[in-house]
Amino acid sequence: MFKKIPGTRDILPDHVSSWQGIEDVSRRLFSLYNYKEIRPPLIEEAGLFNRSLGDAAEIVQKQMFLIQKAEDVYALRPEGTASIVRAYVENNLDKTAGFEKFFYIGPMFRMERPQKGRLRQFHHIGCEAIGSRAPELDVEVISMADNLLRAFSIEGYTIVINSLGCAEDRKHFGGFLKDALNDHLPALCEDCRVRYGRNILRILDCKNEGCKAIVNNLSLQNAHLCDVCRDDFEQVRNGLKVLGVNHEVSPCLVRGLDYYTGTVFEIKHPTLGPQQDALGAGGRYDNLVKELGGPETGAIGFALGVERLLLAAQNPPVRPAAKLVYIIPLGEDARQHGIILLHTLRKNNISADTDYESRSLKGAMRRANDLKACYVLIIGDDELKKNTVMCKDMAAGKQEEIPETGLVEYLTR
Ligand SMILES: [Zn+2]
Ligand SMILES: [Zn+2]
Repeated sequence: MFKKIPGTRDILPDHVSSWQGIEDVSRRLFSLYNYKEIRPPLIEEAGLFNRSLGDAAEIVQKQMFLIQKAEDVYALRPEGTASIVRAYVENNLDKTAGFEKFFYIGPMFRMERPQKGRLRQFHHIGCEAIGSRAPELDVEVISMADNLLRAFSIEGYTIVINSLGCAEDRKHFGGFLKDALNDHLPALCEDCRVRYGRNILRILDCKNEGCKAIVNNLSLQNAHLCDVCRDDFEQVRNGLKVLGVNHEVSPCLVRGLDYYTGTVFEIKHPTLGPQQDALGAGGRYDNLVKELGGPETGAIGFALGVERLLLAAQNPPVRPAAKLVYIIPLGEDARQHGIILLHTLRKNNISADTDYESRSLKGAMRRANDLKACYVLIIGDDELKKNTVMCKDMAAGKQEEIPETGLVEYLTR
């Protein structure tokens, strides 16, 4: 017997309706903000991610699913941003449109140790707005994330924001941290001692209590930001305030990827536990488009984890099921006739099904109940002769004999 590989899940039909609900709500909301759907491939050259996320990023170091074919190394995409920027540049969208707003929905792959809310194939709903550095765009993107969570009926989340500043500011900040943490090096956890040399900003969001205490003692503020970046961040905060988007500022929020600059944010939720309490995250990546061969231009995006949204949502939206009509033929003649009727209903946009296994009336009724059929049509010899069907309204518990000529009208009224 084959089993699915650890960290993957079968999303069975019973659960698909809440996935569809989340997706439907997202599509509706993204379109209100004029974001257009984009579907890049799930597989890319591995180098794209090394270049975008940075060689030191944990994802690149340990978590990519790689496929080697002769000289070429491919990766199953671990995130969406790099692919979308690649698509933006490769398809010359910078030249034809300039400013473009995209959203995407789909699976991502990371070689994780499977645990609650953390999978090897997981799903992101995300967006990228490419072609502007305006702080108002940061406000749009963060408030859109807030609106999405509300639309999913998720409560109790916190939006945490920070600014990493421009590349210069990041460099200065890294230098400042190197000096400030130098004396504390022996007290940092093993991971952070490695980060000190490779990706020093990551020390700020280490979950280790000892590291946290050391970082808190640094009393970090936004002192590393240049005037322009400080002003932009002020504008973002004010814009959020004006729109009533609650948020906290945390100087320790850094995100692990090289491509982030300027505003970064994370959406935390208590049900997910301290190790991975983010429903989603995002930020600006003003250097990435150029880094991948495009023009120098600003961009910002975020991604929400669908599995995590479903853990956090008390009453996730669901896509309403089509009203099902269930046909129960009694006897061989009725069976032949039932198949034609089934075809007619479907041609008239009525969702319909039957039982091919010639169960007893009782067995077939039970099946109709399990399928949550709205109507059951019983065809026996009597009905065949009269060209009628016995139509049972399952919710009302009433039954009525309906002439077949009026059936479609009766069922769709
Ligand atoms: Zn700056
Ligand atoms: Zn640490």
